[in-house]
Amino acid sequence: MLPSEYQDDSSPPNVLLIDDSVDVHRVLRARLRTEPLELVCVSTGAEGLERAPDLMPALILLDLSMPKMDGFEVLRRLKDAPATVNTPVIVLSGLTSTHDKVTAFDLGAMDFVTKPFEVNELKVRVRSALRLSSLVSMLSQRAQIDGLTGLWNRAHFDSRWQEFVSSATRHSRPLSLAVIDLDRFKSINDSFGHPAGDEVIQGLARLVGGTARSSDICCRFGGEEFCVILPDTGPDDAQVLCERIRTRLEEVRWPRHPERQVTCSIGIAGVTGSAAMTPQAWLEAADRNLYQAKEGGRNRIVVSDLSGPVQLADAS
Ligand code: GH3
Ligand code: MG
Ligand code: MG
Repeated sequence: MLPSEYQDDSSPPNVLLIDDSVDVHRVLRARLRTEPLELVCVSTGAEGLERAPDLMPALILLDLSMPKMDGFEVLRRLKDAPATVNTPVIVLSGLTSTHDKVTAFDLGAMDFVTKPFEVNELKVRVRSALRLSSLVSMLSQRAQIDGLTGLWNRAHFDSRWQEFVSSATRHSRPLSLAVIDLDRFKSINDSFGHPAGDEVIQGLARLVGGTARSSDICCRFGGEEFCVILPDTGPDDAQVLCERIRTRLEEVRWPRHPERQVTCSIGIAGVTGSAAMTPQAWLEAADRNLYQAKEGGRNRIVVSDLSGPVQLADAS
């Protein structure tokens, strides 16, 4: 998936209401019906904590006085969990003491609305919290996009790679990683200037993004190096896709240097079934294959099935 596709997701944000009063569920369902949001209501703190990581709400509305686990404890746990630490929480409470308010804000609440609440006031507070939430998620997403190419950057790769390896291992699914590096790229910069080099990096990024499937994660790893996470793809299929990238790149005529062909070398490491590899070791295996491709003469792919022997696919 490319960042540009990710941004197209226009489904309304989820708002999770955690309140033991079904009257509050009913009132908010009715009064927030016209707002561009999906309201999910649960009656206990335990249920709220269980639903939140999957639902990934853009906002949580939280009652404080609830039997068993009170809202303070729920808030503490939400702020302790990586999945919800940054989710804004508006506390809705009949408790009005300054001490309760201070405690809620200290625990990480972004707003405090006293019950019985004026629904129009709650509505504008919800809107404002959702605006802030969407700004925060847009900024954190932008922080993971590479400025030159529009592909995902290294930070995004680092945050997703581990997740893909865990999931493939758990479900014994195929998974491959391809690392792509431009050949003798320094000499493009040296001979034709840095802007020409940038155009080559952008050209390869377009090619990689346009050749990969929408489920693949295309990243600029840094400099003139790219990587692609290929879920549900064994090393042989990953090689077919990379071969397409390799041959298409060598066929490109570059406006600034039409006589100078540009090529890349690619290292692939993947599994067809279950993987027993750490994400770091897997990345190192793909990187080693890239270096073998360089040493073998460049403009080629070296692929290994992590459970099988290394093979050289000399495609040049
Ligand atoms: P090899 O075939 O062994 O990969 O050789 P190479 O010249 O591609 O590799 P090397 O690592 O020596 O050089 C990489 C060059 O990439 C050096 C650096 O100036 C250039 N580079 C890195 N980032 C950028 C960028 O954003 N734009 C441009 N134009 N050049 C960049
Ligand atoms: Mg290079
Ligand atoms: Mg390099």
